[in-house]
Amino acid sequence: MSVILLGTNNRKKGVELLELLSPYKIAVHTLSDFKSKVDVIEDGKSFMENARKKAIEHARFFKMLTIGEDSGLSVDALNGEPGIYSARFASILSSNSNASDELNNELLLTKLSGVTLESRTAFYTCAAAVADADGKIIGEAEEYCQGRILFELSGESGFGYDPLFEIVEYHKTFGVLNASIKKAISHRARAMRKLIPIIVNAALEQ
Ligand code: IMP
Repeated sequence: MSVILLGTNNRKKGVELLELLSPYKIAVHTLSDFKSKVDVIEDGKSFMENARKKAIEHARFFKMLTIGEDSGLSVDALNGEPGIYSARFASILSSNSNASDELNNELLLTKLSGVTLESRTAFYTCAAAVADADGKIIGEAEEYCQGRILFELSGESGFGYDPLFEIVEYHKTFGVLNASIKKAISHRARAMRKLIPIIVNAALEQ
C-alpha cells in the first residue's frame, strides 16, 4: 500500500488535505498517528521556506514520503499582514505562541477599522512541498485564493479567517459557503491539484 505523511499539526488543515487526497489509492498518515514527534521551528522567511522545512524534517524523522504545507492570509491594506504569521497574529494579546482563530479575527477587524470594502482585498497563500523518505524535495507548488475581508464574522464552516474571508463572486464567506466549494477553489486545493501527479507517482514507486 502506498503511504504518505501529512506533516502538519493543524487539525482542521489536516482534514482539508485528507479530503483532497481521498480520491487516490494512498494511505495518508497524520502526525497524530505517531507518539514520537519532531518540533519543526517555523522560522522561514516565506511560506515556501516553511513548507520545505516541514516536509524535509518530518520526512527525515519518520523516514516517509511527506507533504509539508504552510499557508496564511495576506491583506493588501495591511501591507501583506499577517502573512507567514497568520496562525500567531494575535499572540501578542495572549500567552500562547499560536493565537486562537477568534482573537486573530478580532485583531484583523481592529486593524482594518476605517478601511472601506473596496480596499479590504486579501488573498490566501498555500505553499506545499513533497519530500521523499530521505528528505529530498521532489516537488513543490504555491497557489492563491483571492477575496476580501468583511466587517463582521459570517458563518462557521472552515477555520481560521474563513468567517471573514469573502469570495467576491459568491458574495459569501468561506464560513458560509459549502465545504465542497472551498475544496474546489481554495489555495490549498489549487496547490494540491498541482502536486497530485508527483505525489501519486512517488507513492506508487515505494
Ligand atoms: P500554519 O499551520 O502555520 O501554516 O498556519 C496557517 C494559518 O493560516 C492558520 O492558522 C490560519 O490562521 C491561516 N489559514 C491558512 N489557511 C487557511 C484557510 O484555508 N482558511 C482560514 N485560515 C487559513
